[in-house]
Amino acid sequence: QTTNSTTASSAQPVSQEIFAMDTYMTVTAYGDNAQKGVTDAVAEIQRLDNLLSIGKEDSEISKLNKSGSAALSDDTAVMVAKALDLYKSTGGAFDITVLPLMELWGFTTQEYYVPTEDEIQSTLQRVGADKLTWDESTKTLTLGDKQEIDLGGIAKGFTSSRIMEIFKKDGVTCGMVSLGGNVHLLGTKQDGSAWRVGIQDPNNTDDMLGVLEANDCAVITSGAYERNFEKDGVTYHHIIDPATGKPSNSGLTSVTIVSKDGTLADGLSTSLFVMGKDKAIAYWKQHADEFDTILVDKDRNVYITEGIAGNFSPDSVSANQVH
Ligand code: ADP
Repeated sequence: QTTNSTTASSAQPVSQEIFAMDTYMTVTAYGDNAQKGVTDAVAEIQRLDNLLSIGKEDSEISKLNKSGSAALSDDTAVMVAKALDLYKSTGGAFDITVLPLMELWGFTTQEYYVPTEDEIQSTLQRVGADKLTWDESTKTLTLGDKQEIDLGGIAKGFTSSRIMEIFKKDGVTCGMVSLGGNVHLLGTKQDGSAWRVGIQDPNNTDDMLGVLEANDCAVITSGAYERNFEKDGVTYHHIIDPATGKPSNSGLTSVTIVSKDGTLADGLSTSLFVMGKDKAIAYWKQHADEFDTILVDKDRNVYITEGIAGNFSPDSVSANQVH
């Protein structure tokens, strides 16, 4: 649904806010073709939401979860292939089959529940992307026994990358999209200066950790503060460690990924969060040409990789640079 819309005069941006993929999104474009860019982008967000939503019974993903096997549409197939690559390269930290666990913990209904160890173990039987069968040539995905998939860990990043393509096709050279705090930036700001992205302090959400200057890339954060509940003094959040069946307890409280590839950035923010600091840094060392990252741990230590260290101004913390 459209909640807000402003229209252009030549110097003013066109901006539209919509609620989709369980979050508020803002699409903004500058310049002569801004209105067309924003209108097309919003239509595409709605189309992808209808395709991917696990909350909509007739979405492609819901139908697949019911039938157990389907030939996928092109966009869904691209996401599945990327998700399976990430499953392999992250040693299983990123796993689109965690949906039964999300349901068990009540994250899909907001009827939160702390399951017993037995319930977790029996649900884990249905989890594991190694039980999926993916036929690349026919784009057919077949689920294992009682399995269900959810592309929520990469859908927003895929969407933001798509919006950048739409902007370019529509002749927009300067714009941005914010999807529930994740941003994707096209070009520089209109005056030629860099975009400034505030990074939230995960350990005190009223505060900012700092500001990152960035252009032409996605800046995507997974944080323990985003969706969570508290029971008996313990906070449980929505990023699940597929190895334990429980909310990840790696010591990290937020992971920001900066990359040209929004899908990758979104998937990696979840993955590195689960992997924890040491494995996350080791992963970055092997893929330093694909992304940069800012890691924050429970003790408020900040680790930032060298590609973006010079563009980050910490407000009140000293960041450790990772080479
Ligand atoms: P948000 O959707 O709130 O921005 P993230 O981008 O961090 O959060 O992704 C979390 C979402 O990804 C969850 O809501 C769930 O749908 C899915 N998810 C949770 N744990 C995993 C995991 N280990 N691997 C893949 N997807 C996951």
